Amino acid sequence: MKIEPKSIKVRDIFEGYTDNGDDGVFAYGSKLAIRPAYQREFVYDTEQAEAVIHTILKGFPLNVMYWVKVGNDQYEVLDGQQRTLSVMQYLQHKFPITLDDKKYYWDALPDDKYNAIMNYDFMIYICEGNESEKLDWFKVVNIAGEKLTDQELRNSVYTGEWLSDAKRYFSKRNCVAKGLSDRYITGDPNRQELLEKALKGICDNQGIKDITEYMAAHKSDSDADELWQYFQDVIRWAEKIFPKYYSDMKGLDWCHLYNKYHSNSYNSSVMNTEVKRLHEDEDVQKTKGIYEYLLCKDFDPFAGRLLNLRAFDKRDKLAAYSKQDGICPICGQHFEFNEMEGDHIKPWSKGGHTTPDNCQMLCKDCNGKKTDKY
Ligand SMILES: [Zn+2]
Repeated sequence: MKIEPKSIKVRDIFEGYTDNGDDGVFAYGSKLAIRPAYQREFVYDTEQAEAVIHTILKGFPLNVMYWVKVGNDQYEVLDGQQRTLSVMQYLQHKFPITLDDKKYYWDALPDDKYNAIMNYDFMIYICEGNESEKLDWFKVVNIAGEKLTDQELRNSVYTGEWLSDAKRYFSKRNCVAKGLSDRYITGDPNRQELLEKALKGICDNQGIKDITEYMAAHKSDSDADELWQYFQDVIRWAEKIFPKYYSDMKGLDWCHLYNKYHSNSYNSSVMNTEVKRLHEDEDVQKTKGIYEYLLCKDFDPFAGRLLNLRAFDKRDKLAAYSKQDGICPICGQHFEFNEMEGDHIKPWSKGGHTTPDNCQMLCKDCNGKKTDKY
């Protein structure tokens, strides 16, 4: 890992500044991508941007910024994007600053102030190294500065055609992946959260431990079609198995559910009826658990735990305890009330409800050994 400190004047960075929207923001004679294509939106408000200009006018230092060398005399801003954009946008007439109660766009500034901005030195560390070195180091850098998400960090290292294509699908507010999955999967595409979820899912599906491993293996691919197809499969599978949409479907880990259960077959009309029935069952306290419960209940005897089933309240338990004279019906021994637990005589899965007549008290030992608890 090579890190080279450099001071570069604002006037040199402003040289050739172009804002191409989705296609990126460039400066420094086109040698610097301040914001690469499909990256995060500018999130400073004008108050923060104005504060940057005032810092410069006072001649105070801004924090060091970091650029990554991505090619021969080509760079990307890793840290300092928002500060750099604040200055560039001021020089592009995007907002005024207030001096002595008066508003000044850049072109109305007195010469000395204008020159103070143009001649101001940005302190920049330019770093160069292999991908894992960069990633390790960026994580440390990222502790200060404008926080990047883990996936933004990975994106700054594993650049290439694969990444550009992946971002096209996953990384804009109105991207196709967001449109497809919005009712199911949460995550801000701008902050690369949707891309991260898709990557996590495909890694899990292929038995790959770490997202960086996948990105390293695919960074030179000409497109990200595999990832995009996988993501579409996940959503279409969810729509197919549970044809009627419920709002509590949103935010579940659908990639995980797909990976774990998509090779089983399910009858979607049975699923529909069951989802509706479970939503109406007052004993089900966690409706978000309904979907996985239905996917695994036929082979997981403890599937009921996913539903956070209503437990007996103290009054029901005390009534059962006194009816049993404190005797556990399984082992026949006597216990104190607080050594026993409420249990459904007829399990919930067989139609038993959390009602007083269905309550019995078991000692903790016997209750723990019970297999048809749900
Ligand atoms: Zn017992």
